Amino acid sequence: MSRFLNPSYQSLEVYTPGEQPQDRSYIKLNTNESPYPAAPQVVAAIGTKELEDLRLYSDPECRPLIRKLAEVYGVNPENVYVSNGSDDILNFAFALFSGQPGKAVFPDITYGFYQVYADLYGVKAETIPLKEDFSIDPDEYCGRNCFTVIANPNAQVGQALPLKEIERIIASNPDHVVLVDEAYVDFGAESAVSLTKKYDNLLVVQTFSKSRSLAGARLGFAIASKGLIEDLNRLKYATNPYNVNRLTMAAGVAALEAEDYYKDNCKRIMQAREFTKDGLEALGFHVVPSMSNFLFAAHPTLEGGRLYEALKQRGILVRHFTAPRISNFNRITIGTMEQMKTLLHTISDILGGTQHENQ
Ligand code: PMP
Repeated sequence: MSRFLNPSYQSLEVYTPGEQPQDRSYIKLNTNESPYPAAPQVVAAIGTKELEDLRLYSDPECRPLIRKLAEVYGVNPENVYVSNGSDDILNFAFALFSGQPGKAVFPDITYGFYQVYADLYGVKAETIPLKEDFSIDPDEYCGRNCFTVIANPNAQVGQALPLKEIERIIASNPDHVVLVDEAYVDFGAESAVSLTKKYDNLLVVQTFSKSRSLAGARLGFAIASKGLIEDLNRLKYATNPYNVNRLTMAAGVAALEAEDYYKDNCKRIMQAREFTKDGLEALGFHVVPSMSNFLFAAHPTLEGGRLYEALKQRGILVRHFTAPRISNFNRITIGTMEQMKTLLHTISDILGGTQHENQ
């Protein structure tokens, strides 16, 4: 830390991203990326011309991409905002919608960035404990009368609330924004996008990072009432108008033209998820039911941190969190069926068990 840093940043606890190791090649099941490559259309969309055109700024209004998103999600372009990853939108939302003095509610176990953004903007965050089974109790979020953030499916644990419960929360909080972070919605949960036509306080945030295999391109989007989209644009034009680069913009449009390819991949991931859940349970794990592209699992005799280390030594990366309530768990991203078979065999070896040998 330099002596020039503003005091308000000196004690800020920042987000720790999952490992992106360069030392060797791993089966990488730690940051919820897709195991499948970007669609052929995306690869074809980035040619010499796009690379040469990098001399030009990108379109600050992101018109073709916003038009295409509006078409795919059945809304008007004025209801869509795009950004450099959905983290960017979450950041803006905490800055714009948490009130003054700022207040926010979100679950105690969820995407770790919410707390970082709250701290960054001096927002008082009230965290609501998940139930014993790691599900969200929707009643706890009704009538909170402040900026409310729910990842649906929830980050880290993977469980999802039905749309009618999400709607109850939105309807009970009409004077504050309810942000529904749908980073993992394409793996079986219900999206709240349709409710944006009914509720002007609903901000739905999604990403191309998971189901559309574009984590490295950094592309997120929000769907909401015209007013909320204008607010996001206000902050964009006060900070970085060219927030989506030209290559990502081209990749995003092409990805939206390859919906069948991504839907197939999501189906395969959901199948591999259920296969892995069954396999882990057969090995004695407690596995939280998941509607996302990851599983959250703990073993009764093998401590979470030790399993993480043992897998890493054997070339498999998963994500281990140290927060007290979840330190015995690992979050395992769903890869290809082959990768998941390797994972189960490796865990079986680590456990020294024989349950899995005959599969
Ligand atoms: N929301 C949730 C719940 C996430 O898990 C993530 C991924 N870490 C993000 C948002 C951010 O995704 P991105 O910035 O890649 O769009």
